[in-house]
Amino acid sequence: MDVVLTPEQEAFRQEVRAFAAEAVTPELLRRTGGAIEAFVPEFHRAVADHGWIGVQWPREYGGQGRTPVDMAVFFEEMGRALAPLGRYVGSTVFVGGSIISYGRPDQRAEFLGRIAAGDLLGSFALTEPEAGSDAAALRTTAVRDGDHYVVDGEKVFISGAELADCILTAVRTDPAAGKYAGISLLLVPGDAPGLSVRPLHTVAGLRVNVVVYDGVRVPADRLLGTEGNGWAHLQTTFGLERSLSSAQLVGSLFRLYRDLHVAATAEVHAGRLEPARLADLHDCRAELEAARLLSYRACWLDQNGAMTLDEAAVCKLTRSELALRLATVGLDLLGEVGLVAGPDGVLGGRLEALYRRAQFYITAGGTNDIQRGLLAQRGLGLPRR
Ligand SMILES: Cc1cc2nc3c(=O)[nH]c(=O)nc-3n(C[C@H](O)[C@H](O)[C@H](O)COP(=O)(O)OP(=O)(O)OC[C@H]3O[C@@H](n4cnc5c(N)ncnc54)[C@H](O)[C@@H]3O)c2cc1C
Repeated sequence: MDVVLTPEQEAFRQEVRAFAAEAVTPELLRRTGGAIEAFVPEFHRAVADHGWIGVQWPREYGGQGRTPVDMAVFFEEMGRALAPLGRYVGSTVFVGGSIISYGRPDQRAEFLGRIAAGDLLGSFALTEPEAGSDAAALRTTAVRDGDHYVVDGEKVFISGAELADCILTAVRTDPAAGKYAGISLLLVPGDAPGLSVRPLHTVAGLRVNVVVYDGVRVPADRLLGTEGNGWAHLQTTFGLERSLSSAQLVGSLFRLYRDLHVAATAEVHAGRLEPARLADLHDCRAELEAARLLSYRACWLDQNGAMTLDEAAVCKLTRSELALRLATVGLDLLGEVGLVAGPDGVLGGRLEALYRRAQFYITAGGTNDIQRGLLAQRGLGLPRR
């Protein structure tokens, strides 16, 4: 991998940085608490107006024809600015990216321009009450009835479903086929009759949803990809999601590291902290550099058609465990003031918030235990049992 970005990529970085410096105002940060997962409609619109939703899509679909590495640049800069990019990944990677990868031309024409314009928000519904880590055990069914599928079942922990115009839903279309073979993907309208969404409030103020499908009729042309091939299709989407989300989170952790370093150094100068105690923070800096390179590497592999699930697993593990470590090191250095939540807390409460949100990074998108299993089997070739 060439670790030096091209002059065009550096210029793009400067462009994104300048935008973020202006658009991510102190007032906006007060509103979001610096949460990079927050959804702020006017910010989403401003990003769309810059042509940066679906940046990597072909121009004919409203994108800029950029590469996955360009995307990493975009996400890293937005992360460093603590820009609220809620619904960006749900819309552009899960819905839009899946349509690009395995959708039909008419689906591309119908959805992508609207997503790129910021007019269509997406979310992704896979997890069920009895199918979390073992997601392929899902039971939500879609039965063909003429030119529709009729969907029945329940999804849980679904981010952004309350806002979504389109929910990419994993369903079982052939219960007789093997566990992985009978799964398909449907683009379900967020306002479909029979669909209901109710909130679940989880750690660090993150809202997710229970989504119930009660005889929801979905036109058959909303099938995404090949019937029965949904599980294989999703593996492509997971790879990209895990690498891009890494660039964003690592960018935001760099920002916290920098602010923490300033605060801890001030404590040293005030004689309240032994200089040697900064050693753990310096270790975090080295780990951040490594995590950053891993996220770029994953995007570079994706760009070259060589992305694998174990590479994506390395990114997911590294970024989430680093989030917890940085929060823990920060709290250890600054003591109880670091535990104060909200704008009155140290660093605007970001340390306290990160400590809680790290649990989300570890759990969502496939828990770290599952990522370790993937690494063992696919990366190291170890047997399943
Ligand atoms: C804030 C948040 C947002 C989310 N957003 C979405 C979303 O938008 N869409 C969506 O579909 N899902 C979403 N999820 C769901 C998330 O992907 C699941 O919570 C996750 O996959 C784990 O499933 P589970 O909670 O059922 O845990 P379980 O599968 O019940 O696991 C419980 C524990 O057992 C461990 N475990 C389970 N199986 C194994 C194994 N084989 N080997 C080793 N350890 C194992 C797990 O690591 C975990 O510690 C979200 C979750 C959260 C918390």
